[in-house]
Amino acid sequence: MGQQLDPKLLIGVCLVVAVVLVVGLGLLAAVAGFASQKKSGCAGDTSASVAPVALNGLVGLPVKAASSDSPDSDSAGSGGSVATVDSIEGIKIPYKNTKLGLEEHLTETKPKHYVGPDSKPLTFAGAGAYAPHTTDQEHWYFNEYWPTGGAGWEKIPHKKLLITSKETGKSVVVSAEEAGPAASVTARDGIGAGAPPEVFAALGLKDKGAAYDKSPKSDKNRITVAFVKDQKGATLGPADGSGGSDSGGDGCAPQNDEDGGEAVSADFIKKIIFRDRRRIKPTALVLHYTAGAPDVNTTISALKSNSACGSGGCSVQMTIDGDGKIYQLMNPLTSQGAHAACINDKAIGIEIGGTGESQLLGNEKQFQAVVAASVTILKKYDIQFEEDAAGKKGLLSHTEVGEKSCSASRKYSKPDPGQRYMEKVRSAVKEQMGSQ
Ligand SMILES: [Zn+2]
Repeated sequence: MGQQLDPKLLIGVCLVVAVVLVVGLGLLAAVAGFASQKKSGCAGDTSASVAPVALNGLVGLPVKAASSDSPDSDSAGSGGSVATVDSIEGIKIPYKNTKLGLEEHLTETKPKHYVGPDSKPLTFAGAGAYAPHTTDQEHWYFNEYWPTGGAGWEKIPHKKLLITSKETGKSVVVSAEEAGPAASVTARDGIGAGAPPEVFAALGLKDKGAAYDKSPKSDKNRITVAFVKDQKGATLGPADGSGGSDSGGDGCAPQNDEDGGEAVSADFIKKIIFRDRRRIKPTALVLHYTAGAPDVNTTISALKSNSACGSGGCSVQMTIDGDGKIYQLMNPLTSQGAHAACINDKAIGIEIGGTGESQLLGNEKQFQAVVAASVTILKKYDIQFEEDAAGKKGLLSHTEVGEKSCSASRKYSKPDPGQRYMEKVRSAVKEQMGSQ
């Protein structure tokens, strides 16, 4: 995948090759932001092996804030014993009165996929946008065309909503696990939300085959949608409590975005350029140099235009410019980037702005920022300091990744950020880690 290229031939940035379909999705994905894992056994470790498949063509296109669809919707407060609200944490529901489309199951459920009499056939739609999901979240999942243009969109994942069928009057508490369908689908078919077969069954909508009744005005499968007021207390499943949850939970609490910014101690400037729907559980931090002018905009354009990672270009979580400013380019930092083949699903990357090792060695201010950022990332994600590139762990150079992290047939050679520089960084990082 291009790893064998002479680095000098690469366009500007030294980055190499994402694993998979970063393509347009990576940059555009409407739906980044979501969950990071907080418990090691709960999440994310397999996510990298699953390609981001679009769900029935419904999902994940670049999104502008969608407008509310129906003037007559008044779902807030309805739904039997479950109290609801129209907005929560400043987020409004795009479609409060809409048709529900039938979705397949999500992959990346922990510990297992929900299987029941109402879930056949158990076909999978691919990775859900807000993966990982608990079994309950998958069982009762729900999607809408969540707005991403304004503040608050990153708060959507795993929010609980109450949906009520206008045909049967039955209500189900569902969990926002994905974004979709695209606005064009909603406009064409009137379907502004989606859910898997179990939700249809719980709503009493037996006629699943008619789920895609393509008539915007039709009331077939029409539902009202509202946020559940008590996000923590509410149980997913039928709102009358008769259905309940299947698994009793798997011990994995719904995850929230942990990268609001306050948790990072180095001075990070948020300049979110790249998005990816996958989350990683980082075990490594990889340092690069950009092989270009050390300003952030040069770095970003070089990343975007670097075809070594596919038509969508490369991406990285952070870059540090020549003035020592640390830019966070992805949010959360556990978004998977495309900067170092063979380890992208395990590593956060830092692109250090500069033409090469000698320039980096001559920039003390930038060096201090690199050290501060590295210490912060290692501590925040509990990444070990010791180099174990073969095990995809530790503070690593791109060189070490190319030589040790790949299987024999995929090994490649990269010069960055340079051995002397790496030694200098390691020495300072070790000292700071020890003193904190
Ligand atoms: Zn590199």
